[in-house]
Amino acid sequence: MALQAYSSARDEYHGTEGIFLDANENPFGLLNRYPDPHQQYLKAAISSIKDIPVENIFIGNGSDEVIDQALRIFCTPGKDKTITCPPTYGMYEVMAHIHDTTIIPVPLTNRFQLDMAGIFRAALQEEDVKMIFLCSPNNPTGNNLDGLEELIRNFGGIVFLDEAYIDFSSKASLIHQLHDFPNLIISQTLSKAWGIAGARIGMAFADKDIIALFDKIKPPYNISQINQTAALDILSQEERFENNKALILSEKKKLMPRLTALPYVQNLYPSDTNFLLVKMDDADQVYQSLLQHQIITRNRSREVAGCLRITIGTPEENNILMQILEKLTL
Ligand code: PMP
Repeated sequence: MALQAYSSARDEYHGTEGIFLDANENPFGLLNRYPDPHQQYLKAAISSIKDIPVENIFIGNGSDEVIDQALRIFCTPGKDKTITCPPTYGMYEVMAHIHDTTIIPVPLTNRFQLDMAGIFRAALQEEDVKMIFLCSPNNPTGNNLDGLEELIRNFGGIVFLDEAYIDFSSKASLIHQLHDFPNLIISQTLSKAWGIAGARIGMAFADKDIIALFDKIKPPYNISQINQTAALDILSQEERFENNKALILSEKKKLMPRLTALPYVQNLYPSDTNFLLVKMDDADQVYQSLLQHQIITRNRSREVAGCLRITIGTPEENNILMQILEKLTL
């Protein structure tokens, strides 16, 4: 708490005009100046689209950075623990281990829902459980998690709710309930429905006291000028966003019966995302056959037995995928 944030060159002067001799920049060139460390324009745009005050927003270099920073803020290495609910996004565990934070896995039920009793038992039995990572809609299972409000209300530590796929979901974000939950951090991203994974823009939404902690520990220029500009540009195209999203969702709907009809497909899990989790007779073999045709899917059969995770592509890509799968004999 006594930590002082790095005071960057641009913290004391906010104008854009002037003779800048303060930050050891090169006076020549196009990208010669450091970017705005507070991402004021970008935060204003996100604030207006999400209808949430700027003081409740942190921007990370992808939501992966948000996960990393949350662990740094709330978990003491070598001491504190976090709960995850596998099968889920693998970076929670990777980042926790990097921070020397013990993971307590409380697996999802066989319907891929939260094991509430198991979570509260783990939180009570173990000492120093500081955080739980939840992902809804969940990757790789694709479904929304039920009972989130109840869990957040009763959990004694920080609830990190990853909503990377929320824009595709039929269920609303919890972003407008933040004022009820001072222990909640919601992360979202421009990598999925907004389509700029290359620009690495992730967001955390939380109580302003939590956001202040994120701001305190972040590297001063964590979002590059190029990325801030790309994000502002994409956020100004809401119609494009809506159209792309609608196309992806309609493609998903078209793919579902075609996948189900394949003789070696055992199950297609309900998806509120831009991907499908498909259970097959021999996922490894299907994965390898697709690779031979330069079609890359995600083999999740170690995490969810017999399953490939297939992202929805363009209509052309999806047709090629289906043509290969329909010809395949196991
Ligand atoms: N959370 C989940 C659930 C994800 O699936 C991903 C990307 N695969 C991320 C976070 C990371 O997103 P970003 O590009 O914002 O770092």
